[in-house]
Amino acid sequence: MIDCARTTILNDEGYLERLNRQIEQERIPLSGSIELTHRCNLRCIHCYLGPPSAVQSIRQRELTTQQIMLLLDEITEAGCLFLLITGGEPLLRKDFPTIYTHAKQNGLIPTVFTNGTLIKDSLMDLFGELPPYSVEVSLYGATASVYENITGVKGSYARCMKGIQKLLSNNIRMQLKTMLMILNSHELSAMEKMARNFGVKFRLDAALFGCLNGDKTPLSLRFP
Ligand code: SF4
Repeated sequence: MIDCARTTILNDEGYLERLNRQIEQERIPLSGSIELTHRCNLRCIHCYLGPPSAVQSIRQRELTTQQIMLLLDEITEAGCLFLLITGGEPLLRKDFPTIYTHAKQNGLIPTVFTNGTLIKDSLMDLFGELPPYSVEVSLYGATASVYENITGVKGSYARCMKGIQKLLSNNIRMQLKTMLMILNSHELSAMEKMARNFGVKFRLDAALFGCLNGDKTPLSLRFP
């Protein structure tokens, strides 16, 4: 009975239209994103956050756990439903489980963007108990040499592969994406194939921007 009722509502175009109109009219922020940190354990050549020294100065302005939880309460109150949690690398924050749990307890539906290299069993326990809508893992190449030429960290490719396997074996809904640039465009088909073999969706983004500190180096890596 309950399933039938849900199906009826979701198939009711009139209902969805009315809902969308109300969201627009009342300017309800149905979806939003939060950058938990500008720090990252990788050193990607194209990263708009810039060099670690630049990121270090930004760190002083990182919000505390309490400030973020308050923000989550405010956006929930304002009607937000879909929340993108990103960074930098959001899993680098030790308080990620606290923040994520708070978002879920508020009824938000979170998607997590990660480079996939910090995925531990404890995170799988958390996601098993409180599932995300999706986890999106950035893939910078189909081989360790291309991937690590971009990330600048030896062993990061293997850690990313391990993270993807953990997500898959724990049945966490996930997808892969790449930042396409001249350094990895020749591996695009291979990355698509990897995603197919894993049985997950794949998408690409080719919009590279200059760094927050004004350095325009990433622009020279743009795919023409
Ligand atoms: S993984 Fe993302 S945040 Fe980290 S260095 Fe690379 S581009 Fe920047």
